[in-house]
Amino acid sequence: MSERILITGGAGFIGSAVVRHLIGQTPHEVAVLDKLTYAGNLESLSSAVDSPRYRFYQMDICDVSALEKAFAEFRPTAAMHLAAESHVDRSIDGPADFIQTNIVGTYTLLEASRRYWSGLPEDEASAFRFHHISTDEVYGDLEGTDALFTETTPYAPSSPYSASKASSDHLVRAWHRTYGLPVLVTNCSNNYGPYHFPEKLIPHMILNALSGKSMPVYGDGSQVRDWLYVEDHARALVEVVTRGRVGETYNIGGHIEKRNIDVVELLCGLLEELAPAKPAGVDAYRNLITFVKDRPGHDRRYAIDATKIERELGWFPQETFESGLRKTVTWYLENRGWWERVLSGEYRLARLGHAEEN
Ligand code: NAD
Repeated sequence: MSERILITGGAGFIGSAVVRHLIGQTPHEVAVLDKLTYAGNLESLSSAVDSPRYRFYQMDICDVSALEKAFAEFRPTAAMHLAAESHVDRSIDGPADFIQTNIVGTYTLLEASRRYWSGLPEDEASAFRFHHISTDEVYGDLEGTDALFTETTPYAPSSPYSASKASSDHLVRAWHRTYGLPVLVTNCSNNYGPYHFPEKLIPHMILNALSGKSMPVYGDGSQVRDWLYVEDHARALVEVVTRGRVGETYNIGGHIEKRNIDVVELLCGLLEELAPAKPAGVDAYRNLITFVKDRPGHDRRYAIDATKIERELGWFPQETFESGLRKTVTWYLENRGWWERVLSGEYRLARLGHAEEN
């Protein structure tokens, strides 16, 4: 059956992968609601924009009347909530936007969804889904244990980012328990892949290496993260929103635990192979690695137990870390135009042009 899926944050890294997947691989209609902050990039949606099944609303999820207008016009059968401030370092430097978008924005969206859902005819209301997309960082730090995060691991967020996401997860579950809103929650590990904004570890390292700049690794680089290729995440999210059990939480991860330094070393190896013509003065990419002062409050280890989604929905990652990282490096080498326009700030012109049209 064809769904009408409203996607907040659809111009971001993961949201755009979900939109590309939905438009490219499914019959569903999509409406993207996105403020186009620095992290929103319409050029990541270029393969979807010509589809008659795609539409775009430039708006803030904290804007109640804009939300109500979008719900009334599009009449979604499901909402996927990805809009967020997502960068931990930015949350440490300035938490205010994280509180506003991640907590107040989620509350505003929940209320708009609840009003819309409670006005639906019974058969449509019982089919409606509100899917909240969250992070494994809400569970805190696994340092010193072999444990994995499960869906029942108690929350213990460490950063302003993860605390704001934890708050939003609690709000979503409360709206289910108190008002009966049909919600689903997913908590996923670190994503990587094409169209990733260059402030994040993997693209930052690739682009610095390609321009002969230092590759800065926090602390001693021994922090462990669990990695998932973004297109595997996008497929998982579509499985959950269309087939997941209402009221449930699903952890999503790739069973790939890596130390940050090992990720950077792997990238250097791939770059040696795929981009052997190095910038002037660089004899080996790994000589660009430098260790810098650690992030305050930095969690040491995250690791996800993803067996519930595997067992219940039959979802498994298709990429290994080696294959996904290779695809990622290749994508950055073949799509210089995308990231050069991000680095120069030119990608924001497309956003302004879009705003004027609407
Ligand atoms: P991103 O920063 O790349 O994209 C966020 C998007 O939200 C952008 O398009 C931005 O313009 C939009 N946005 C921000 N504030 C908004 C507002 N007030 N109103 C409307 N739109 C707004 O983030 P991402 O990496 O794609 O993450 C998407 C979601 O997945 C987030 O909720 C994040 O917490 C979660 N998540 C991310 C990862 C990861 O590794 N990136 C892992 C697990 C979960």
